[in-house]
Amino acid sequence: MGNDNSLSPEELSRYSRHIRLPQVGVEGQERLRRARVLVIGMGGLGSPVSLYLAAGGVGTLGLADFDKVEEHNLQRQVLHTQAAVGHAKIDSAAERLRALNRGCNLELHRGGITLDNAVELISQYDLVVDGSDNFPTRYLVNDAAYFARRPLVYGSIFQFEGQVSVFDPHTGGPCYRCLFPQIPEPGTVPNCEQAGVFGALCGIVGSHQAMEALKLLLGIGESLRGRLLVVDALNARFPTLNLKKDPHCPLCGSEPSISGLHPGNYEFSCETDKEPQTEEAQMEIDIHTAQARHTSGDAPVLLDVREGFEREICHIPGSSHIPLGQLPAQADALPRDAEIIVYCHHGARSLRAAKFLRERGFDKAISMAGGIDQWAREIDPSMTRY
Ligand SMILES: [Zn+2]
Repeated sequence: MGNDNSLSPEELSRYSRHIRLPQVGVEGQERLRRARVLVIGMGGLGSPVSLYLAAGGVGTLGLADFDKVEEHNLQRQVLHTQAAVGHAKIDSAAERLRALNRGCNLELHRGGITLDNAVELISQYDLVVDGSDNFPTRYLVNDAAYFARRPLVYGSIFQFEGQVSVFDPHTGGPCYRCLFPQIPEPGTVPNCEQAGVFGALCGIVGSHQAMEALKLLLGIGESLRGRLLVVDALNARFPTLNLKKDPHCPLCGSEPSISGLHPGNYEFSCETDKEPQTEEAQMEIDIHTAQARHTSGDAPVLLDVREGFEREICHIPGSSHIPLGQLPAQADALPRDAEIIVYCHHGARSLRAAKFLRERGFDKAISMAGGIDQWAREIDPSMTRY
């Protein structure tokens, strides 16, 4: 690829199916080559987003991610291969995208997006596409894009549902906080470890984000600015809701309470029903103490409250099993005077179960903090993680 503005014969050939479209043409394709797009997250959404932007001829892609590829990512994060498990997602992504289009210039931001770099990072690009999977990052990207005065292509996924929109509050459109002013309180959204997400949904939502980004860069069509596309993939319905800018928005409203990126605005815990620390401490046991009790002479009941499919992936030998949802019906089968150590994947469901059991008179019910995932990391590395 030359440094001058005109496309080479190879590029004219490569992008000929774009160029034949009157809405794109040679001029549009050259515009894409000059474009700089930042993609946050190389996961389920970042995969189709970056693949289509690189394939489509966007000249410079900034990639931001700090995570490593894990086996359970491969069900939906199509950038990454089996061989990349254990490696940095950003390296895996760069390798794949270079193989796809060596004419696409990649800028790698290995620390991901943070409070300290967000505004400066986004300012270096024409627009930002958010493929993050958590609330703190989503709010951080929304706010930083506003302060950097760059359009944001938003996408999110949950189970079989997705959302896509374009936020550009600096030109008068609504922002994410116009819809959802604050990070949700813990307990008001479903527990992260229980949620699940359908893999192909990421392709639908991420490809739509890529489409919106390309349209914005080309200046064609009608964008999702001021509209929220809802993807109900399970029922194949795609309603579009009209969004209004909220004059009382804490970020882009007339009297904003958010004037910069302050740490307190981006805190969120996945754990539901968080109780005061002291009460919680009495109801939790660490994995090493739990193991010692489990292997002692008068071993307690070790109770797995995960779903059946999770137990098939891995379980602690010698444990019994009652899924959390069946606990109310089956609790009476448990010995009332014995110590019951409850465990789940990460320790959130088991804490709920321990509280429930105590309310039912099982005074020695206790939750194993960290769950089987921490057990697999620190006690039994041969155990399959998910
Ligand atoms: Zn707003």
